[in-house]
Amino acid sequence: MKSLNCFFILLDDELKVKTANSKYLDIASSAFEPEKYFIDYVSEKHREKFTAAFASAQKEEECVTIVTAPIELENDTLTIKWSICSLRNHDNGFEGLELFGVQSKLSPKEIEFEGGNNHDNQKILFERTSQPFFSFDLQGTLIKANDAFADLLSYSVTDLPGTSFLSLANGSDISDLTNFIAKALEGNTLEYKCALQDKTGKKVAVKIINTPQIENGTFVGINAFVKKTTGKTQIEKPFNRDEKRLKLVLARLKKVLDSSLDMICAVDESGKFTYISAASDQILGYRAKELIGKDFHDFVHKEDAESTKKASINIKRGTGTTNFENRFYKKDGSIAHLVWSSRWEENDKRFYSIARDATERKLSEANLKASEEKYRVLFYNHSVPSWIYEADSLVFLEVNDAATQHYGYNRKEFLSMKLTDILAEEEVQKYQSFLQEDSCKQCHKEIWVHKKKNGDLFYAEITSNAIEYLGKKAKLVLSIDRTEQTIAEQDVRKSNERITFLSQATFDAMWDWNVETNEITWNEGISKMFDLSDPSEAQKPDWWSNNLHPEDKERVERKKSYHLENKIPRWEDEYRMKTGNSYKYINDRGYIIFNEQSKPVRMIGAMQDLTERKSHEIMLQKLNNSLEKRATELAESNTELERFAYVASHDLQEPLRMVSSFLQLLEKRYKDKLDNKAHEYINYAVDGAERMKRLILDLLEYSRVNSSKTEVEDVDLNDIVKELQFTYKNFLEETNGTINTNKLPVIKGSKTQILQLFQNLIGNACKYKSTAPPIIDISYEDQQSCYQFAVADNGIGINSKFFHKIFIIFQRLHNRDEYSGTGIGLAICKKIIDKHGGRIWVTSTQGQGSTFYFTLPKSK
Ligand code: ADP
Repeated sequence: MKSLNCFFILLDDELKVKTANSKYLDIASSAFEPEKYFIDYVSEKHREKFTAAFASAQKEEECVTIVTAPIELENDTLTIKWSICSLRNHDNGFEGLELFGVQSKLSPKEIEFEGGNNHDNQKILFERTSQPFFSFDLQGTLIKANDAFADLLSYSVTDLPGTSFLSLANGSDISDLTNFIAKALEGNTLEYKCALQDKTGKKVAVKIINTPQIENGTFVGINAFVKKTTGKTQIEKPFNRDEKRLKLVLARLKKVLDSSLDMICAVDESGKFTYISAASDQILGYRAKELIGKDFHDFVHKEDAESTKKASINIKRGTGTTNFENRFYKKDGSIAHLVWSSRWEENDKRFYSIARDATERKLSEANLKASEEKYRVLFYNHSVPSWIYEADSLVFLEVNDAATQHYGYNRKEFLSMKLTDILAEEEVQKYQSFLQEDSCKQCHKEIWVHKKKNGDLFYAEITSNAIEYLGKKAKLVLSIDRTEQTIAEQDVRKSNERITFLSQATFDAMWDWNVETNEITWNEGISKMFDLSDPSEAQKPDWWSNNLHPEDKERVERKKSYHLENKIPRWEDEYRMKTGNSYKYINDRGYIIFNEQSKPVRMIGAMQDLTERKSHEIMLQKLNNSLEKRATELAESNTELERFAYVASHDLQEPLRMVSSFLQLLEKRYKDKLDNKAHEYINYAVDGAERMKRLILDLLEYSRVNSSKTEVEDVDLNDIVKELQFTYKNFLEETNGTINTNKLPVIKGSKTQILQLFQNLIGNACKYKSTAPPIIDISYEDQQSCYQFAVADNGIGINSKFFHKIFIIFQRLHNRDEYSGTGIGLAICKKIIDKHGGRIWVTSTQGQGSTFYFTLPKSK
């Protein structure tokens, strides 16, 4: 319940404070001391105003009104409307000033500030003043009396509280006295003379100034200021001064009551308004005269009628509180929320009440509630995990559903934990030190690693705001899962690092060209590659194009522009770049980055120095060319040789045939005429001619392998071997020899040449047999792409150092007398195998036999 701020101060003729009500003491900077000028209590800025008001109040009989701010509160000012009137004696002489102050504006801040009791200050005032002073309640019972008053009536100060004021007064004056008290109880300030009885029964003539004592907006009693007089002890009528003065007092009181923003009213026993102050107009829209005589309860909201009635009964009985709230119908039909402070006055049979308009407060309370509700709904239904925790203990105070879901705890579990329980272990230490710095921060945003109930860790972006929650210092926290984003950022950072390291490590010159500004940046590679003493040289926009080889420049620039214009992101080119006095061969690759409007904004690439590779390539090309030339020459010379061998051997046959035939003719015709010696010579000649014939035939064969056109056909090797078994039938029978073979494959090739190949190998196996009967094994292996054949014998064998030599033409290991032959057979075999795309080789152990291997591809 808020009380009316109503101030009453009495000043003597010297303008020193005689008394003041408790209210002013609440806000005055220090307690009043007797005999001190009032002006000393006034703040500097209002002094002038008061001095002027006092001066005119002293001169005039009308009250003077001023407005001041006796106290300045935080963000607000308590404004007081003062009514200042002079007090005059019978001869109209100045006796002092009476100051009434009513708060003329109430603000929410002020409402909060107000309240509390001021007994201590009042006590000080009572004790210190030498002015006899006492107060009594509405029943006329003394509540307090100071030493000066007790002395006046020869009582001890402790005797007086509880005594009836009327019992102190002289009996004959009681009815008048009661009247005055009744008037005072209505809030009047009165001055009257009367006689009081001291402890011994002696009358003491006094003048009493009564002022209403208002506490918490309610009249609680009368303050009485006592002055001993020497005059008549009979009570003089207060209004006997003159009519003018009476009017003045009444007008003054009305002014005070009407100055109040609160509605002050009196209601009689039947519930009718008997008095209502001007504030009714403001609060209810009714003028006072519209309400006087009307039933108070008719204006009470029907829902509050019952409680209001109950409250009035309780107030009347003196049980229960004197404060209550209800809603009142205003003149315009709307509702006013009123806060009442009320008291039943038995003597008057009236309720004296003060009502304060709490409509605005109620509305703002309702708004506050609605807005709190709104935030509550927002908090609980927010899709972002949120919680409130106590700043000191870190204990969770509230949590929303999104948080319980995301972290996997139920509400009860969550609220039994502390903030550190949801931090990843490695973050706890960091958090402790963070707390020290953070404690004063109002709001912060940071990434932390949080742990869910199932142990999963994630990156949480925490936004924390300092708030007050349930009277505790707390933090309201929003937690957004930023795991993907954080990992992506870390990846980007790592990959940037990697690129930086890579660009430092590579020999390439990496570049980053801003297409829009034509700025280019290079890594260190550019200086190394072009041996630049000043790396910034390459930063110049035209450095690259200026150093292109004049023959490459146009082509290279055209291709690059083509890529940029036609939005082909990957570009690659080879060109020459000037370095000193020579040119380097460069391979350059770039990637064009386009913006959202498909405009090229950036191009990133790397240059590779091809100079060394290029010179190797050139050398290799030269070498290839000369090799090719040599190969052609060789092929030509081979062909020529073969042609020569063919022609020679072919043409030699005719004269040789002549030599042989004439030798045979000579032997036949002159058989008897020739001696033995001549026959022996003729035999030598015939033998020579025979060998020459063999040699010529073999050479012919040899040269034919390449020169003759061979047709590729299916050759069944089983047929070939069968044919040769037949050829060597007699020999094998004579020597008890055998040719063994399993089933052989059909191959592709020249039948004549393959027959010749097998004939030469089997022939040699027969020729170079040992003393044992010859055994010739013909076998093969299927080796996917080719067949590998083996012709093995158990003959004399070959020394391994001659394994290669025997395939060269005319190379023989034996002389004619031991084994006949021309040394061409194996050379022919090799040539046939070469022509068929295979390989031929031999393995042998001397005295045990030899094996000739050869391969023939499956497809020819
Ligand atoms: P030729 O048999 O006419 O001398 P070849 O070219 O057929 O010529 O053989 C070359 C040489 O290889 C032969 O002189 C012989 O010494 C050796 N040779 C060939 N085949 C065999 C074999 N099966 N066993 C032992 N030596 C062989």
